[in-house]
Amino acid sequence: GGRSTVCGCPIREGARRHPDAEALTFTGQAWTYRALDAEVARWVAALEARGIAAGERVALLATNHVASVFLFWALGRLGAVLAPLNARLTPAELAPLREDVEPRLILALGTLMDRLSGAEPLESFAASTSSPTCEPLAETASRVILFTSGTTGRPKGAVLTEGNFRASAKASAANLGEHPAPRWLGTLPLFHVGGLAMLTRTAYEGGCLVLHDRFDADAVNRAIDSEGISHASLVATTLERVLDARGDRPVPPSFRLALIGGGPVPLPLLERARKAGLLALQTYGLTEACSQATTERPTESDGRTAGPPLPGTEVRIVGVDGTARGPGEEGDIEVRGPTVMAGYWRRPDATAEALRDGWLRTKDLGVLDARGRLTVLSRRTDLIVRGGENIYPAEVEAVLANHPAIQEAAVVGVPDARWGEVPMAFLTQRPGQPRPDAETLSAWCRQSLAGFKTPARFTWVDALPRNAMGKVERTVLRQRSST
Ligand code: ATP
Repeated sequence: GGRSTVCGCPIREGARRHPDAEALTFTGQAWTYRALDAEVARWVAALEARGIAAGERVALLATNHVASVFLFWALGRLGAVLAPLNARLTPAELAPLREDVEPRLILALGTLMDRLSGAEPLESFAASTSSPTCEPLAETASRVILFTSGTTGRPKGAVLTEGNFRASAKASAANLGEHPAPRWLGTLPLFHVGGLAMLTRTAYEGGCLVLHDRFDADAVNRAIDSEGISHASLVATTLERVLDARGDRPVPPSFRLALIGGGPVPLPLLERARKAGLLALQTYGLTEACSQATTERPTESDGRTAGPPLPGTEVRIVGVDGTARGPGEEGDIEVRGPTVMAGYWRRPDATAEALRDGWLRTKDLGVLDARGRLTVLSRRTDLIVRGGENIYPAEVEAVLANHPAIQEAAVVGVPDARWGEVPMAFLTQRPGQPRPDAETLSAWCRQSLAGFKTPARFTWVDALPRNAMGKVERTVLRQRSST
């Protein structure tokens, strides 16, 4: 039987509908939908030659590179699954992930190849022939296995489906408002859900992904000023660096908005962005929900919450007894809808634990307001309980970061004989400012926080430890506090 030529591949569809529209740019090169379609067809041929078929896994170890984009779409045409591995991991951390995935093929950027045995060079993989194969994908077809960073126990691979990515793209566009041809700035790593969601979202909307190999604040500003960027996904620290590097230059009207999430988003930062003419919306998302679960609506955003659920998604707050809480009541955040993962790869127990009646237990704490907007309080494991009182690190960090001498603050719980746990602050200094002493810092906190929330200790550090996503590594800080 002949192979099906109809397909759900948005690159193939784009090549038919708007072949000359730009689909992708990377380090000064650009691909139209027609050119990208042809490139993907060569990757399909190369993968077929290696026996990659539906359901087969391909592991990838790379920082952002255009070849990862070709690979992602080529695997979709074959019904095969991509397992992107975090490019910052060590050989010892990568080995068990590879074993878990059982890939038929392992590709790595040349510079990273020696970290993963059996890896082949990603950059030179494509074939000179091309393949017409483009199998239609079912919504339930697995598309990627994405490992969470494993802050608690062995990393688990979240299985995200074609349906998850499509639903996420559609809901995001509905929330942010359709755009004739979005140009999405891609600095988030493609081995993270934020990166993959931005890749798929732009393709389903017929837009262009402006892919950067790494985050560079000046490169981001150049792209905003002269490459017609309309959307960007950033985290709090990268937004701050973009604003610092921008100075007073006005933001061109081509720029619509930036999504800011992945961790606590300080309100003063969002306000500063707006004053600079850059609309920044807070979003709450996670790997298991294929990126955004809630996002502020552009027309009614004030940066104070992470916004309401995306269209089609439900969010509820439940108490420790498992029953739903009302507006204003704090508890565990649960998410349900078409973007929620199929489950964890080969981990039926962990899947059953995380998904109940379609509700995803996020392990985050939060509260909904009367208008259904979510405030994220803390990750359950980061919550500090001091003598029975709950302390949300983000609240204390926000107060500290407002001090003129403090650049960044991270607050973790440390064991304490009397209170069980007390908060301890790690601080970095704002250049050119004198370092206040502990007494001054305590007094600063007491102005806006209850006494029990004031850190028991303040420690200055050169930099906060951060993972590839720019998230503060709290386990590292907790270890440091005990030495
Ligand atoms: P792991 O779950 O293994 O620790 P991870 O932290 O890298 O890995 P991700 O799925 O990348 O997991 O990140 C999702 C998490 O980021 C959420 O569960 C939440 O704790 C945090 N987060 C995302 N958006 C926000 C936000 N707006 N405010 C506060 N925290 C947020």
